[in-house]
Amino acid sequence: LSKAQGRNRYAFFTNELNQSISRRLQIEEHLRAAIDNGELRVAYQPQYEVKSRSMIGVEALLRWNSSALGQVGPDEFIPIAEQSGLIVPIGRFVMQQALSDAMQWVAQEPQFKLAVNISPVQFRDEELADFLRQELERSGFPASRLELEITEGILMRGGPMVENTLATLHEMGICLSMDDFGTGYSSLSYLRRYPVDELKIDRSFVQEMTVDEADRELVSAAISLSRGLGLRVVAEGVESKEQLEALSEMECAVVQGFLLSKPVCAKEIDALLMQREWELS
Ligand code: C2E
Ligand code: MG
Ligand code: MG
Ligand code: MG
Repeated sequence: LSKAQGRNRYAFFTNELNQSISRRLQIEEHLRAAIDNGELRVAYQPQYEVKSRSMIGVEALLRWNSSALGQVGPDEFIPIAEQSGLIVPIGRFVMQQALSDAMQWVAQEPQFKLAVNISPVQFRDEELADFLRQELERSGFPASRLELEITEGILMRGGPMVENTLATLHEMGICLSMDDFGTGYSSLSYLRRYPVDELKIDRSFVQEMTVDEADRELVSAAISLSRGLGLRVVAEGVESKEQLEALSEMECAVVQGFLLSKPVCAKEIDALLMQREWELS
């Protein structure tokens, strides 16, 4: 490597680094104003019961159409919102919007549940339980129809504050769902220690289950485990009829994925609820 090449390389790396830092800063800056500017929207992805082929709930998923940056995906802006603390006000916005949108769905469908993602940073907010109690009261939304999707990381770290919050939420009647199940540092002991109601099998396992024997076994094991522990089980990321058939054979209770529906706006959920059964894409 000549000296000049070395220098070029260095310049190349600092340039890349600068670009990613400036993108990050831009996102943080514009995200700060996004709530007030009305740039955040909540989309909903249906969850279907396999047995009845009917919609039994939705997962709320945040969307950001920035006037400055265009459409930015949650996988990019949620981590930045977490690091900057912005996830707390943003998460409150999602909760308020979702409770208000889902009010009529739970009134219409006796089993219907609303699932909302809660990041570890939101979970460490001491006011989380109080905020939820206040919003449930204000909206009249039944606590037993609200489900918080948390990741294994929250439970793995544990600690007295996490345990207190979990116990309080459980007492309030709110359900807990273990999102992305199988991707964390799974020690299964937390399933015994904490009041978890549901496992969501991560889509990376579902996606390979019809071509990879090991993934198929893991999905099957997660379904048996849920059954044994009396937990609800949801397979996420179902994209093909083959996957749906395999899951159905394994008696997986609930499915969610692009095959059934992409995340859509609240109005489209109204329309999908009118249909008696799922319509595969
Ligand atoms: P997640 O909670 O695991 O959500 C599922 C993600 O998988 C969503 O991506 C959804 O659009 C996508 N998905 C669903 N079905 C399929 C499928 O069949 N194929 C494929 N390829 N993807 C599918 P999305 O909306 O981009 O969200 C990404 C992540 O961002 C979420 O993962 C969640 O961790 C986080 N997130 C989204 N909204 C919120 C929010 O309001 N609060 C918090 N704290 N996190 C959120
Ligand atoms: Mg989720
Ligand atoms: Mg997930
Ligand atoms: Mg996730």
